Amino acid sequence: MLISAADIDRRVDELAAAIDEAYAETEMLVLVGVLKGSFIFMADLARRLSVPHRVEFIAVSSYGAIESEDPGAVRLLMDVRHDVAGQDVLIVEDIVDTGHTLSYLLRLLAARTPRTLRTCALLHKPDRTVTDVAIDYLGFTIPDVWVVGYGLDFAERHRTRPDICELPPELR
Ligand code: 5GP
Repeated sequence: MLISAADIDRRVDELAAAIDEAYAETEMLVLVGVLKGSFIFMADLARRLSVPHRVEFIAVSSYGAIESEDPGAVRLLMDVRHDVAGQDVLIVEDIVDTGHTLSYLLRLLAARTPRTLRTCALLHKPDRTVTDVAIDYLGFTIPDVWVVGYGLDFAERHRTRPDICELPPELR
């Protein structure tokens, strides 16, 4: 086990408090969760916010789907439902690995002229960075290992574990 459910719980509280403070004046914060990995983090984070907020989801291609292509290529599978122009947008990601996904999403959403655009990620693997992206609200920095639990999967398994665990190579 890498991060216990209790540690995740405490950190999500702290992130929600920091986001509440930063957006104290917002009319409506738009949380854009990146499917599927962020669904549990998003649910916990959103329920702890006091500022007015609404929830959107976006889906992009995962590793397996892009193996044969340019490894940096990200494909949009499902877009947000409503326009984000002029709004305060916060992207909610499970994990930032190479940075390709978050960098793609930042470009995609910035082109829609939100009022502000920031990022929140539960986990970051700095050793794997290929594209530098600013993470405004970060839960934990972790080493270069494959993690599962709290929304994160391996081949769709382990997503609903309450804690975050390293999946050793022999179990993949
Ligand atoms: P990036 O584009 O930053 O390389 O990758 C981001 C995506 O890769 C994440 O949203 C997640 O879907 C997947 N990913 C990267 N590392 C891990 C990991 O350790 N465990 C799981 N389950 N997914 C990961």
